[in-house]
Formats: sequence, C-alpha cells, structure tokens
Amino acid sequence: MCLFCEIINGNIPSTKVYEDDMIYAFKDINPAAPVHFLVVPKEHIENVNGINAENSKYVAHIFEKIPEIVKSQGIDSYRVINNCGKDAGQTVMHLHFHVVGGTELGEKIL
Ligand code: 5GP
Ligand code: ZN
Repeated sequence: MCLFCEIINGNIPSTKVYEDDMIYAFKDINPAAPVHFLVVPKEHIENVNGINAENSKYVAHIFEKIPEIVKSQGIDSYRVINNCGKDAGQTVMHLHFHVVGGTELGEKIL
C-alpha cells in the first residue's frame, strides 16, 4: 500500500486538518511555509494522469473544500501546487495537492 494510503487508513500517523468520506487533508511533514498541508483523495489515484470521468469527482470535491479548509487554518491567500510525475518532482505516487500560505510567497515560475 502506498504511503498516503497508509496515512489515510491511519497506519501511519499524521496531523489531520480535514477529513470527510472522500478526501483527507493533513500537514506536510516538511513544511515549505507556515501553512502547508496536503489534500488527497481517499481513492488511490497515482497523479493527474490518472484522473478520469469515474474519479474526477474526488478532484472536484478537493477544490470545493479547499476554501473551507484554508479558512480553518486562518488564511485566504495561498498557492495550490501539484507535481505530476518524476520530472516535476512528484515523490509520493498518490495524487495530492499542496496548499501553502501564511506568509508572502516568494519565487514563482508562473
Ligand atoms: P511531492 O514532492 O510528491 O509533490 O510531495 C510529497 C510531499 O509529501 C512532500 O512535501 C513531503 O514533505 C510530504 N511527505 C512525505 N512523507 C510524508 C509523511 O510521512 N507524512 C507527511 N505528513 N508528509 C509527508
Ligand atoms: Zn495511495
């Protein structure tokens, strides 16, 4: 089972920031900003390349919930980042969106 599936099912501890029947959000172990959490679907999807008509509801739900989750973390300005595949720096092969904020964010490539 992949690392984030283990985190979702509680076999590996994490600091939860939000959970419902479809998605799980938890603090990144190596935060890049004062607020840095990851939002993942409870169904294992490898990355953006694995999104299809059957599972895209998880992605829609993630984005529906992000505004509420960031509010609970005390911010309303933030960056949502996804790394898809090895060259893009994806290290955990379970779809996840980084949400980072809580400070003025520096460098950007876009
Ligand atoms: P990626 O590089 O795949 O886009 O992001 C993976 C993220 O998962 C990294 O920011 C890394 O710090 C985080 N991460 C890796 N292992 C763990 C873990 O065991 N627990 C938590 N909470 N985050 C992790
Ligand atoms: Zn997984």
